[in-house]
Order: sequence, then C-alpha cells, then structure tokens
Amino acid sequence: MAESWSGGCQCGAVRYRFTQQPRGAHICHCRMCQKAFGGFYAPLVGAPRASFEVTRGEITLFRSSDQVERGFCRQCGTPLSFAYIDGDWMSVSIGSLDNPEAFPPIDQHGVESRLSWANGLGHLPDRPSTEVEDPATAAFIASTNHQHPDRDTQRWPE
Ligand SMILES: [Zn+2]
Ligand SMILES: [Zn+2]
Repeated sequence: MAESWSGGCQCGAVRYRFTQQPRGAHICHCRMCQKAFGGFYAPLVGAPRASFEVTRGEITLFRSSDQVERGFCRQCGTPLSFAYIDGDWMSVSIGSLDNPEAFPPIDQHGVESRLSWANGLGHLPDRPSTEVEDPATAAFIASTNHQHPDRDTQRWPE
C-alpha cells in the first residue's frame, strides 16, 4: 500500500487520509481560528486537495466566511479541516492526524490577534496527566475511554 498520512476525529466517525505528505505546518492566531478551535490558536498543515480523501463517514462543513469552509465531526465536534472554497489546498488540524509529532509548525499566522500571553505557554510549569501520576486513575480512564485509536480500524467501536 502506498504511503499515506491519516487522521480522524475523536469519536472515530470520520477518518481521512492524504496520499501526499502534508507540509507548511503552522499555527494561526486569528480570531476566527481561535473561535473555530475553541483554542488559543489553530494548528494546521495541508496538501493539495486532490491528495485528500475522507475514508470513513463525512466531514460536516461550516462556511466561516464566503471564502472559507471549516470542517468538523458532527458527532463529536472535533475540528478537522480548513479550505478556501475555490482553492486547491486542504488543511487539517494537526492534532487530528494520527501522528501529530511529525508536523512541527514552521511559522505563525494571524499574529495581530495573538493572545498576549501565548508566547509564554512553553515556559509554564510542566505537569503530566492525572493518569500518569495515579495508576488507579489510569486504569479507570483506560477502561472508559471512547477515543478512536491513532490508526485506521476496520470498524469502530472494535
Ligand atoms: Zn467524531
Ligand atoms: Zn486563522
């Protein structure tokens, strides 16, 4: 099978893949991205639209302006895609890819809207997840986890 770069939403209703390696990873601080992601900024990476395909379910689109469609999973709400309607480029949320580690951002967009403290985030004190600190919590969370794994599945839930 040809190499591909896959991802999907948290609940597993939507899965997608690129047949070309996504590039141009960046974060966008614009206010529309903050709102659409419910985050401090949007992490995005993309590839030509022709190399993108949805392999399970469908992406629900919201036209955040007359130029842009933002895609998400209608069942779990995961932000998934960003594309100019007339463009030939498809971007996805880096966190929805199965291997986000492979897409370090190379620049920042929309910096006029960057939150004043965003640059300091990397310097905040580190804390692991609760489940790392407490094995009993880890077992409980693992046994009640509904998140789709970071790989394609034949069916879900398995
Ligand atoms: Zn979902
Ligand atoms: Zn933006």
